[in-house]
Amino acid sequence: MSAMMDQLNGAVRGRVITPADADYDEARVVYNAMHDRRPSAVVQCVDSADVMAVVVAAGESGVDLAIRGGGHSVPGFGTVDDGLVIDLSAMRNVRVDPVKKTVRVGGGATWGDVDHATYPFGLAAPGGIISTTGVGGLTLGGGIGYLTRGLGLSIDSLLSADVVLADGRQVTASDYENQDLFWALRGGGGNFGVVTSFEFQLHEVGDVVGGPMFYEVDDAPAVLDFYREFIAEAPEELGCFFAWQIAPPLPFIPEDRVGDLFCALITCWNGPHEQAEIVLKPFHDVAEVKAQHVGVVPFPALNGAFDGLVPKGMQHYWKADFVTELTDEAIAAHVEHGKKTPYVSSTMHLYSINGAANRVGADETAFGHRDKTFAPVIAGMWPDPADNEANTKWVKDYYAAIHPHSGSAGGYINFMSEDDGHRVADNYGVNYNRLASVKATYDPENLFHINQNIEPAAAK
Ligand SMILES: Cc1cc2nc3c(=O)[nH]c(=O)nc-3n(C[C@H](O)[C@H](O)[C@H](O)COP(=O)(O)OP(=O)(O)OC[C@H]3O[C@@H](n4cnc5c(N)ncnc54)[C@H](O)[C@@H]3O)c2cc1C
Repeated sequence: MSAMMDQLNGAVRGRVITPADADYDEARVVYNAMHDRRPSAVVQCVDSADVMAVVVAAGESGVDLAIRGGGHSVPGFGTVDDGLVIDLSAMRNVRVDPVKKTVRVGGGATWGDVDHATYPFGLAAPGGIISTTGVGGLTLGGGIGYLTRGLGLSIDSLLSADVVLADGRQVTASDYENQDLFWALRGGGGNFGVVTSFEFQLHEVGDVVGGPMFYEVDDAPAVLDFYREFIAEAPEELGCFFAWQIAPPLPFIPEDRVGDLFCALITCWNGPHEQAEIVLKPFHDVAEVKAQHVGVVPFPALNGAFDGLVPKGMQHYWKADFVTELTDEAIAAHVEHGKKTPYVSSTMHLYSINGAANRVGADETAFGHRDKTFAPVIAGMWPDPADNEANTKWVKDYYAAIHPHSGSAGGYINFMSEDDGHRVADNYGVNYNRLASVKATYDPENLFHINQNIEPAAAK
């Protein structure tokens, strides 16, 4: 081990942080506080050369290797006991090319970094709904967010990626080189190498009209029924998801309703602003909107609007599915369990993933669930470990009630918890065997295994 540390210290420009360093505890912490792991070293890489050196050191010494982008993984894949962590958080440079309308993004950037850099050009890449989430993990798993219906998943705007492979070489993957690797990166997670830089196509997104509308819980069956019907045909410039939300103390919430549970529709209209009122009118017809914060807003502000509800350091336990058809039985199960939402940060989000995301073929990228219309995630998030049992039970019971109605064995790999390992093949769906064969080409020894792991296998 000490020979490996000497090798690393000599080879990398970034910091190699070990238990002997005063900031070791800070460096080893990941977003989900349930994962209190103690790596041998956290290497804060500053460039591809650093990443290559750590990959080679891990491969030669046989220690476990974790890759950390934004650190948001609910199963804590950005850290590992006794192994090495490649921490990419110092590699978050973002460079916009306004002529080509593309952006080059460092492997450790967050979506907040990207939004901040692209907004002044009136452009955006499709990311998620929280600004602190890493571009790395979110993109490699697919990428669901406000712009999915209109512009597709994050991977559908990915043009190329620079990847450090298990043998320590860096290659570029795109439609023009290493096409099999490029295919696998778009939905196959962190299985194939360390992406040091992503290149995305940008789209015209500046100020949007959006925000949350809160309804009474008693109206939830009608709101869910409306959402299911409306979003199937709604203009694709409209992004929308359903959520359970305990009202936080915000200016738009009546004081006497703070702490009450509501159901909510959260919208993002990326079309002409003057059309927003007409498009959103049915949202007011379905039931009385009890509180709302909908208006013209810079896209980065909408993308950061919920950040305050999900600070680093809470306990996380999530479960998820894909859904082809949201049935009446599923709605009843959502209402029964949504009513028991235990904490202000906990929720179930029901993302609509139809539209542009459905127009890509299931075999065009590694993300195989292109026929699904919704992606529900039951996201248990709470601060006190003493409440772990009660909160994980809420998530498990909720999931057990909706899963039989999902019509799909698999769920979104980025919404899985650590006990979902048995679902990996279903989560990759129709593409699993092909992914295993690409894995055998690029990572035959499974060096990159701290993820939704695909075991290398010969082509079938
Ligand atoms: C609060 C919160 C909100 C979320 N919102 C959304 C959302 O709106 N839409 C959505 O689609 N998902 C969302 N997610 C899920 C999110 O996509 C996953 O948690 C994702 O894995 C986070 O990526 P990360 O880089 O932050 O995490 P990390 O923990 O750093 O990494 C997650 C996985 O990706 C790998 N990885 C990360 N970066 C790289 C890289 N550069 N090269 C190779 N492998 C890498 C890691 O090894 C690990 O296996 C959310 C998660 C949280 C906690």
